[in-house]
Amino acid sequence: MTQIYNFSAGPSTLPKSVLERAQKEFVNYKTSGVPLIEMSHRSELFEEIVERVEKKLRQLIGINDDYHILFLHGGASSQFAMVPMNLMYTHKADYIVTGHWANKANEVARSYGDVSLIWNGELDNYRRLPILDEIRFSKEADYIHFCSNNTIYGTQFNYVPSYGDRPVICDHSSDILSRPMDIEAFDLIYASSQKNIGPAGVTLVIIKKELLKQPAYDKTPEIMSYKVHAGSKKLYNTPTSYTIYIMDLVLDWLIDLGGLEEIEKINREKAKLLYDFIDQSQFYNGFADVKDRSLMNVVFTTGNAKLDLAFAREAEKDGLMALKGHKKLGMLRASIYNAMPIDGVKSLIRFMESFEKRYSD
Ligand code: PMP
Repeated sequence: MTQIYNFSAGPSTLPKSVLERAQKEFVNYKTSGVPLIEMSHRSELFEEIVERVEKKLRQLIGINDDYHILFLHGGASSQFAMVPMNLMYTHKADYIVTGHWANKANEVARSYGDVSLIWNGELDNYRRLPILDEIRFSKEADYIHFCSNNTIYGTQFNYVPSYGDRPVICDHSSDILSRPMDIEAFDLIYASSQKNIGPAGVTLVIIKKELLKQPAYDKTPEIMSYKVHAGSKKLYNTPTSYTIYIMDLVLDWLIDLGGLEEIEKINREKAKLLYDFIDQSQFYNGFADVKDRSLMNVVFTTGNAKLDLAFAREAEKDGLMALKGHKKLGMLRASIYNAMPIDGVKSLIRFMESFEKRYSD
């Protein structure tokens, strides 16, 4: 069978060893006689999984007791509303818009108060990120919101934009766990699970305990309140238990590999191979400004939309899946998250070489 590599932006590729372990444990979880997907989320075995996942996340990222960890539903999209509902006390917030998802967050927040667009990357077609001096922070705002990695445009922040002691809220969906991070620089981080953490289903929220107050918006339902979730022994309602179980296996894989410093080295090596190849080529062009390029999502093009489509189609026949760019931008996109092996990137480069030979004049 041809080796398949999945370059999807999410749900995305998972470590093979994780899939194999899950398969082995699927029907009978840890000799309990029952599959985990049938088990109560209040059972001892499942509670142990939640505790383990939390402990491993704290260990890997370096999350201290000042922060609470929540396993919610609704995807990162739910956080676009939950953040302003809970935290926009004076009805003012600063949003840095560097791509489609950051803009979605900005649009949703506008229902709850005055949102200042303190950087609008749309003017540059989201090709680049601001340096700190370019961001025009407001005099007063309840928080700053930004997105650390722009999945569609392939840009990634290399610093945390902050202003005094204003709380910093970050959508970390597409690069969480990809490199070491300074948790103290953030007040709230949220991330969908379907890229670097596991399958789809969980919305990971890491929130400073200081922020766990009565929601700012008084009509906030319980299910949307951070305080309610944090006060419910982590599980206010039935969580996506199977995703949390796979997260446990993914975190084991990451710890065995050597943690975030080690995965960063691997991620840098993979991205360098691909960007170096694009840069030396006369046939392909990268989309993002070189200084802001993402290690997770590599966006490139042949410069011809029809040829890009042919590339994605032919690559698929060669076992290289999901290289078509997002419909907002078109082009091609290789998502090379943590679990994409370096051999996957090498196969992609070999395919790019052969495609170039066949299609250059
Ligand atoms: N933020 C970012 C950075 C994303 O990449 C995505 C989805 N790809 C989202 C938010 C939305 O996530 P979800 O579909 O889980 O709500």
